[in-house]
Amino acid sequence: MTAKIISGTEIAGKIREDLKKEISELKQKHGLTPGLVTILVGDDPASKVYVGQKEKACANLGIYSERIDLPLETAEDILLDLIKDLNKNNKIHGILVQLPLPGHINQQRVIYAIDPDKDVDGFHPVNVGKMVIGEKGFLPCTPHGILELLFASGINTKGAEVVVVGRSNIVGKPILNLMLQKRAAGNATVTMCHTMTRDLAFHTRRADILIAAIGRPKTITGDMVKNGVVVIDVGVNRIGKTPEGKSILVGDVDFEEVKEKAAAITPVPGGVGPMTIVMLMKNTVEAAKRAVSSEQ
Ligand code: NAP
Repeated sequence: MTAKIISGTEIAGKIREDLKKEISELKQKHGLTPGLVTILVGDDPASKVYVGQKEKACANLGIYSERIDLPLETAEDILLDLIKDLNKNNKIHGILVQLPLPGHINQQRVIYAIDPDKDVDGFHPVNVGKMVIGEKGFLPCTPHGILELLFASGINTKGAEVVVVGRSNIVGKPILNLMLQKRAAGNATVTMCHTMTRDLAFHTRRADILIAAIGRPKTITGDMVKNGVVVIDVGVNRIGKTPEGKSILVGDVDFEEVKEKAAAITPVPGGVGPMTIVMLMKNTVEAAKRAVSSEQ
């Protein structure tokens, strides 16, 4: 069996078309342009690339964007004051602080400082709590993107054995919660694995849907999956450079081996990555719509 390739690039493209219509409606009916600010502290090369991609995505859709680059040694208080000002800024509907932050800044304090109504990353405890109890808030972009990938690909999650490898706050834990919800792309039976899991392959071989968010190249090999599995590979691992100096990216799954057994699989790049960015755009548009309805 050779797997169907689930193209995040294609699915994200369709979502972008819908967003363009919503953005032009907001402009025409309410004279409002959704606005996103991205804050980068320091000059981590990967973070710079991510922030650049987000700015570009805003420009393509007609979302107003501001980028604030702060030096590595920025004090936590300065960042917190900046966020307080942005919380009050009517042009800005979404605030994104690029993570990870330098070690001297308390990441949780920064996330708490963001107005939950502008928390388009979905990391504020108010939004995390709403997600867990199934209330409407902002969903974190990568897990939300995974739900959309599964839904758009017509993959039935109802009653499916879903195995998530990785328990981070930004991917593993939220996707576990979302797939448990009584909703489309939910209703699954979910198992979560991590470095303390006794026999990883025992669990991964049981999976109807396997979600790998590990951060280690090619950890999931062909012998660790069953025939017909659907594989979502979240990992982005830089394993070297091409002669032209471009990064060589691979996922957490050994794509060549696993695609021979899987029914469907996401590639890296072009799978989860484009979905993360488009869900950020979606959350920003949603935040702008909420700002309109709170004024009415
Ligand atoms: P993270 O915070 O480093 O978490 C990694 C998780 O994987 C941890 O829970 C860790 O377990 C677990 N793990 C590591 N090695 C393992 C192993 N050998 N067996 C079982 N579990 C193992 O990473 P993250 O932020 O979730 O990101 C994961 C990957 O996704 C990274 O490559 C990241 O770049 C990528 N990512 C991509 C996107 C996108 O848009 N495409 C978005 C976010 C992240 P412990 O908890 O026990 O340490």
